[in-house]
Amino acid sequence: MLGVIGHPIGHSLSPRMHNAAFAADGIDAGGADYVYVAMDVRPDRLPAAVAGLAALGFTGFNVTMPHKETILQLVDELDDAARLAGAVNTVVAGEGGLLRGLNTDGSGFVEACEEVGVSFTGRRVLILGAGGAAAAIAVAVLAEGASRLYIANRTPRKAEELCAKLSEVACGAEVLVCPFDKVEDSAAEAEILINATYLGMKEGDPLPLPTESLSLEKIVCDAVYLAGGETALIRQAREAGARVVPGRRMLLYQGVQAQRIWTGREPNVEVMSDALC
Ligand code: NAP
Repeated sequence: MLGVIGHPIGHSLSPRMHNAAFAADGIDAGGADYVYVAMDVRPDRLPAAVAGLAALGFTGFNVTMPHKETILQLVDELDDAARLAGAVNTVVAGEGGLLRGLNTDGSGFVEACEEVGVSFTGRRVLILGAGGAAAAIAVAVLAEGASRLYIANRTPRKAEELCAKLSEVACGAEVLVCPFDKVEDSAAEAEILINATYLGMKEGDPLPLPTESLSLEKIVCDAVYLAGGETALIRQAREAGARVVPGRRMLLYQGVQAQRIWTGREPNVEVMSDALC
């Protein structure tokens, strides 16, 4: 048994994505041994729900809004990505019900970039946002060898706090805060531009990056994904000739990585991708 806990949860695409891969694998390959369910858990019921999932023998589960941060107190161990991001999106239940909290958002993001030939080694990167997704991406991008990382956030204090935390994993890279309302210079200097704010989720949101920064030479990535197609950022970046990595590919690969960890097998990425369309 696998699943996802959140509140609300009806919109989650994860059951469709994971169950499609299990069904495609068939009984002989062990795929049909798994089932993945969406579970609506109110914030005040989170401790009881987590204890219940461990007691029921779940192999693991995903965690989404609003529990990604609260769950930190309820697991026994954290990987570096979850600890530094301050957010868990994947839990693995081990022997004796021991719960390990992981974060596959950053490593999933990197895998989505690799899919289109984008590498971070020696690259200058700008991340907009300083929440859970931005932090997980920042940790992964530094681990991949980015040479300079700019963080711009609406609330500057949070960008500063994230930069301070990242010094632990910077591996010699420069990590700098830049003003959210004046990102032009760092957007011009960076080769890879990443939106990890909420901007783009709602109709009428302003573009998170200046249009002048979207050009042929840039790689533009959006953590935001929409039910009904591309975000305005991805559309405009594509039109400007930039290479793009949409949020839906990040969603796919954070799921691929979680499934790999839970089952110990290589998931059927194509089937999972089709299930998200
Ligand atoms: P979070 O921890 O709540 O952080 C939200 C971030 O967005 C903060 O940096 C916040 O800035 C910023 N923000 C919110 N409203 C804003 C606005 N109107 N203008 C400018 N900045 C704004 O959320 P999260 O978990 O990091 O998620 C961020 C986005 O990534 C969401 O759209 C989420 O759906 C997406 N995401 C996608 C995937 C995927 O698999 N594709 C995975 C995880 C998250 P302040 O600090 O100033 O509030």
